Amino acid sequence: MKSHYRVVIIGGGIVGCSVLYHLTRRGWTDIALIERAELTAGSTWHAAAGFHVLNEDPNVAALQSYTIKLYQQIEQESGQNVGMHMPGGYSLATTPARWEWLKAEAAIYETLGIGARLATAEEIVAACPIVEPTGLLGGLFDPHEGAVDPHGATHAFAGAARKRGAEVILRNRVLALTALPNGHWRLDTEHGAVTAEHVINAAGLWARRVGHMAGVDLPLTPMQHHYLITEDLPELVARKDEMPCVTDLEGFTYLQQERKGILLGIYERNPKHWKTEGAEWDYGMELIPEEIERIGAELSIGFARFPRLQDIGIRKWVNGAFTFTPDGNPLVGPVPGLRNYWTACGCMSGFSQGGAIGLVLANWMVDGDPGADIFGMDVARYGSFASNNKYLRDMTAQFYARRFVMAYPNEELPAGRPLKMTPSYDAQQAAGAHFGVVWGMESPQFFAPGQPDFVEQPSLRRSNAHAIVAAEVAATRSAAGLLDTSVYARYEISGPGAAAWLDQLLANTLPPVGRLRLAPMLAPSGKLMGDLTVTRLAPDRFWLVGSYYLQEWHLRWFRDHLGSANVSIENLSESWLGFSLSGPRSRDILASLTHVDVSDAALPFLGCQHIDIGLTQAVVARLSLTGELGYEITVPASQQRSLWGALLEHGTPLGMKPIGMRAQDSLRLEKGYGVWSLEFTQSYTPAMTGLDKFIAFDKGEFIGREAALEARAVAPDQRLVLLAVEALDADVTGFEPVWAGTRKIGFVTSGAYGHHVQQSLALAYVDHDIATAPVPLEVHVVGERRPARLLAEPPYDPKGRKLRS
Ligand SMILES: Cc1cc2nc3c(=O)[nH]c(=O)nc-3n(C[C@H](O)[C@H](O)[C@H](O)COP(=O)(O)OP(=O)(O)OC[C@H]3O[C@@H](n4cnc5c(N)ncnc54)[C@H](O)[C@@H]3O)c2cc1C
Repeated sequence: MKSHYRVVIIGGGIVGCSVLYHLTRRGWTDIALIERAELTAGSTWHAAAGFHVLNEDPNVAALQSYTIKLYQQIEQESGQNVGMHMPGGYSLATTPARWEWLKAEAAIYETLGIGARLATAEEIVAACPIVEPTGLLGGLFDPHEGAVDPHGATHAFAGAARKRGAEVILRNRVLALTALPNGHWRLDTEHGAVTAEHVINAAGLWARRVGHMAGVDLPLTPMQHHYLITEDLPELVARKDEMPCVTDLEGFTYLQQERKGILLGIYERNPKHWKTEGAEWDYGMELIPEEIERIGAELSIGFARFPRLQDIGIRKWVNGAFTFTPDGNPLVGPVPGLRNYWTACGCMSGFSQGGAIGLVLANWMVDGDPGADIFGMDVARYGSFASNNKYLRDMTAQFYARRFVMAYPNEELPAGRPLKMTPSYDAQQAAGAHFGVVWGMESPQFFAPGQPDFVEQPSLRRSNAHAIVAAEVAATRSAAGLLDTSVYARYEISGPGAAAWLDQLLANTLPPVGRLRLAPMLAPSGKLMGDLTVTRLAPDRFWLVGSYYLQEWHLRWFRDHLGSANVSIENLSESWLGFSLSGPRSRDILASLTHVDVSDAALPFLGCQHIDIGLTQAVVARLSLTGELGYEITVPASQQRSLWGALLEHGTPLGMKPIGMRAQDSLRLEKGYGVWSLEFTQSYTPAMTGLDKFIAFDKGEFIGREAALEARAVAPDQRLVLLAVEALDADVTGFEPVWAGTRKIGFVTSGAYGHHVQQSLALAYVDHDIATAPVPLEVHVVGERRPARLLAEPPYDPKGRKLRS
């Protein structure tokens, strides 16, 4: 061990070794991996080591595909056999609802070009005769499903990295971490101290403890997991090829051939945590005693679906632990608030995701950019609230128990709630609000006043809340709608250096005092980092408004680009709350609540003022996402309840209704407005999204200018367009493919029924040559192709007169 390395990775499981390999592949070779015991000594050694491409987040699915392709390459590079088997795998549909769900999923995988396809029950039983066909309707076949040898794969990564110059130090526990003034880290280990420019926490089962060493509480926790391995099955002994893997989604089990026997794994509905804070330091390569009674119900279903298991002996039980995060995806990237401390942990699917984690982390460290939209795995997608013990346990238990349960786009799950509530929460509930949750914050989805027993049924099709949302849209278009904006993030940027700093951070020019502007924020690569609104409250005082759930992500970006600027950044997201009031009567409602002139002349479109509204002292900005005349009214959190009462009292007689996010989606689609995480992400350039019209290319230097200028010089491959879809009783949700005949020309980013224009609508990225061509299109809606056509302009108020009225 040397006394200093550029990078030290803590942990030699599949993930740490992949990061080691990828960094060396990018030319960083002054690098060491320090492992407490032996390589694989955490979760890795006893994993079933199955892999698959399918994932609910298509970006993660694409990265899983990368991981799988990598195995052969590292085998060749290292000379270490990874024990790769890839017979493909079937996910079974044994209920009509699941069959419909899988059809919808299959369409989404077409978008990704992954090659997953639907399979008949006959095909499944012919390929896997041990599957009991009763009730089997079909399945989804993923040709990339299989398994590796966990020991071989881990050693292959490590071996290939060693060949490229990396060091692997075994039997040496990292005991403590100290941040040094120059941004480097001192690591105290069992065999002495070492310094490193960067530290990577890839400590798997111990990652929470290694987080604590740097003062961070990472939202991950280990849980138990069982699988069994049977004696040889004569039919598998007789078989020349390998039987495909099978996942019985309704049965909570997965199965893969293990030599000539069967490996059956169980995701039980009554899961169990194990050492919430992480394994003990002296935890060896031991198994946890099996708890067959606890998993009995799922085992019985498994034995019924695979009856041959009933007459064959069980050779081995494995009950081990691996880590889960609240949404089941890993924690990757630089930890907000710390310098040069990176995570590559919280990974429950090391053999599907390990390679990808290594790739994005290496890109990030070397290029300053992960190279793809990996927000779904970014450590900054959570705030500190997610590390609360009960929150973490409830969320991870919910995730585990629902691992194979169908997820519906309109479904709101109960775990970890209610956590954050605005002062108006009870009043909104009394007004019939049905809440969803964004980053722990309860946010009204729709209001069902006078229907206390209303329950929305989860569905892939339009739900029983359709008419309720229609009424909210109608109220907004004819009078006014009142939307809770507590799921907006607000940052105050102030100080003598504020204007200069923001000017180089944002791609648009800064507005004059009393005005606001849409301001895309770019990465040096020219890709988007935000679709913010910037408001100038005073010459050196600004508000930036963005998405609530991006707080840690955006704050990390702001701080990383602060340099020596004389600027104060204050996060107001919890301390200032408000409402968006929009619709033709919104000015009348506002005027009735204030002595201040709110006429168009006094408060024009994109104007902003401090105004007393009722008893509150509000910041009122004139804009809306509904396409109507509208105002965003923001007040100190303690005044939000008063504002709600005043707006309701004055608005209701004029036809105003409280509305939820579902109505907002319908309204914004009618205007063709995109939002972050759907239409706008770090994968897209402004030219693709149409946000380039908010870029002031000629204003001088700003982050991403050069790359954005280069991108502007050539037409983007794909562009964001609005489609009218001839849907029946369902609308698109996202990632469905768009077709021109047999040519797949793009994919959907979001969709909704436009209640006012009475048209199903979709925003989609389509190939450049199609973006202006009037060719007939088709879009998959719940797995069925439906006709669609390009809309040259938004169907509602295309000239934007209402906004400016
Ligand atoms: C029963 C079971 C079945 C599974 N089946 C599958 C499957 O089929 N497919 C799949 O993809 N995944 C599966 N998994 C999950 C998979 O094992 C994990 O996703 C993966 O192993 C995580 O790897 P890791 O490198 O992040 O962590 P780990 O394997 O836990 O490695 C962390 C390493 O860090 C070291 N370490 C920790 N602290 C320190 C320190 N202070 N100093 C030095 N070293 C330290 C540890 O000794 C350990 O070797 C399964 C897991 C189990 C238990």
